[in-house]
Amino acid sequence: MKKIICLLSAVTLLFSGIFLVGKSTQETISEITSHSVLQLKNTVILDAGHGGEDGGAVAADGTMEKDLNLAISNAIAGYFELFGIPYIPVRTTDISVCDEGLTSIKERKRSDILNRYALVNDTPDAVLLSIHQNMFSEPKYYGTQVFYAGGDPTSENLASTIREAVLTGLQPENTRAIKPSTDSIYLLYHAKTTSVLVECGFLSNENELQKLKDEAYESQISYFIFKGMLQYLTTQ
Ligand SMILES: [Zn+2]
Repeated sequence: MKKIICLLSAVTLLFSGIFLVGKSTQETISEITSHSVLQLKNTVILDAGHGGEDGGAVAADGTMEKDLNLAISNAIAGYFELFGIPYIPVRTTDISVCDEGLTSIKERKRSDILNRYALVNDTPDAVLLSIHQNMFSEPKYYGTQVFYAGGDPTSENLASTIREAVLTGLQPENTRAIKPSTDSIYLLYHAKTTSVLVECGFLSNENELQKLKDEAYESQISYFIFKGMLQYLTTQ
């Protein structure tokens, strides 16, 4: 019964998604309903980047990366719920996930990242999906970019799938390629499982910033990130 409800929810969501996301939805309906009884082996660790005292990048108008990361992650979580996809959110509110009792910012920041890392490594068959925003000194740059755990073909595959879904559905002009992470992205660089990080857009580009602050756009980009993730999970 639960699966039937889940399927009905999925179909309802996808039909309502016609108005939300436009093209290619019919194709998506057939794709996803063909996987209506989802028996997925993986659990997604849904990591809204930063949080609490760590705001991440800050736009010229004061918009904090941590808030956009959370809004998009929570929207993705909504899709995961509807489709019955196993997931664990790192945070669902504006918090740091560091241990209590640490006094220096450096210690708290380190504890925060190590706790995220432990959650990924301690969860069997975890797939890490980190949500972040980009920032650059030159405001002309914009567009989603997906990073993956370098040297890991499954991470590279997942990054490609998400990139393809986002670009096809939302950003046909975007030519940004997927990239392996350097050690500047701790979780991806050290992860022992399939891991990607989505830089949804640039806070330094005024047009993209306005989009990222718009709830409808947040729903759309969340949907396409989810769609890419679903395509990956259902082929594992
Ligand atoms: Zn970030």
